[in-house]
Amino acid sequence: MVAETSIPVRTCVGCRERAPVTDLLRVVARDGVLVPDPRRRLPGRGASLHPTPECLHAAERRRAFPRALRLPGGGGSPVEAGLLRDHVLGTPSTVPAGSGPGGRQHTNDNRTNTDGPAPGGSARREQDVVG
Ligand SMILES: [Zn+2]
Repeated sequence: MVAETSIPVRTCVGCRERAPVTDLLRVVARDGVLVPDPRRRLPGRGASLHPTPECLHAAERRRAFPRALRLPGGGGSPVEAGLLRDHVLGTPSTVPAGSGPGGRQHTNDNRTNTDGPAPGGSARREQDVVG
């Protein structure tokens, strides 16, 4: 047999269907946070998922990620899937980092000490009545 292009097959944790890894998104967990790994470079145990909202929701509902990734807690504690959701769902909130419009910054940090009574030195001292 000539296996020139043998693409490994994984099972999607969402729909439980087998698919070539090129069609699946690898997901790893780091500190309880699901991290998408489209290039399949991150170390550690990974779960495969169709990068579709349907499979993502299905995997979340059946808590497939903690089981597939062998996370501590065994599905008791929910995993943070924000990054994965952003990757799969493609949230339009693309914030350019560090590209400010050149707005002025008004930070007047000149604090003028108002001349007041010194704190702590206001010991009540009644006038001594010297007879
Ligand atoms: Zn799927």
